[in-house]
Amino acid sequence: MKIVMRHFFIGTFTGICLFCAACVPEITASETIPVFVSIPPQKYFVEKIGGEFVSVSVMVGPGANAHTFEPKPAQMTGLAKARIYFAVGMEFENVWLDRIAAANPGLIIVHTEKGIERIPMKDHHSDDEHKAFSDKHEEHHGIPDPHIWLSPPLVKVQAKNILDGLTAADSEHQSAYLPNYETFIKETDALDAELRGIFAEKGNHTRFMVFHPSWGYFAQAYGLEQIPIEIEGKEPKPAQLARLIGYARKEGIRVVFVQPRFSVKNAETIAKAIQGQVAFADPLAEDWAKNLRDVAEKFKAALK
Ligand code: ZN
Repeated sequence: MKIVMRHFFIGTFTGICLFCAACVPEITASETIPVFVSIPPQKYFVEKIGGEFVSVSVMVGPGANAHTFEPKPAQMTGLAKARIYFAVGMEFENVWLDRIAAANPGLIIVHTEKGIERIPMKDHHSDDEHKAFSDKHEEHHGIPDPHIWLSPPLVKVQAKNILDGLTAADSEHQSAYLPNYETFIKETDALDAELRGIFAEKGNHTRFMVFHPSWGYFAQAYGLEQIPIEIEGKEPKPAQLARLIGYARKEGIRVVFVQPRFSVKNAETIAKAIQGQVAFADPLAEDWAKNLRDVAEKFKAALK
């Protein structure tokens, strides 16, 4: 009886407030499914599909480096009460997911990267053995590139895994999750078409220079090529930096992209040497679709 009354009051209150968007009551934490994601763009995806039925916590917050991240004690406490963890394949998950699962045996771990074939992290030239400069850019087969959320076609795969995870944890609201998912897929297809349009007339101008190679899948989706400054996760040595400068000069590159949370020192050195500039492209922005549009426009303007 108590429960019925409570829902009755919430219903009435919401009804009254239909004309006043600002005072629609927030659904309390106890009525939503507490879920965790690794990085901010995943919050965007899970909220698109889970809508009002999920409350999403993000592991890697602003100011943290997603590649070297370790959970804080408060996050471990929150994780003990979470229902679902949506993994994406970041390095820290390898270590921490087992510990998280041990602390919360009921937690459903959803690998949203499932079904995605990951490409190796791109290196321009990882050691001095490589000939001074060939136009072939070497790929190294050590680390699989985790940045799968930056390609709309791959985000559709992640979205399906998110839908399946939410449905498994909360079949009661499948009737909401499924249409939300379908809407998100349509939005993502529209975004993909828009980005294809942005790069449709690039011709031979496909290269952009970036400090940390986050944009491999994005580049793959739109026929571009990222030229990374970072070499296997490390800053380049002086000789490597000199070669990058030579390459940028030869190619006429004038913009060097950096992202928050990474050193801009080397990017600035190169930019200065080529009389170019440093620009920001954030791979972890939570407003995913808007961010991809903004970054696409910046890359387009800088392509060489
Ligand atoms: Zn990264």
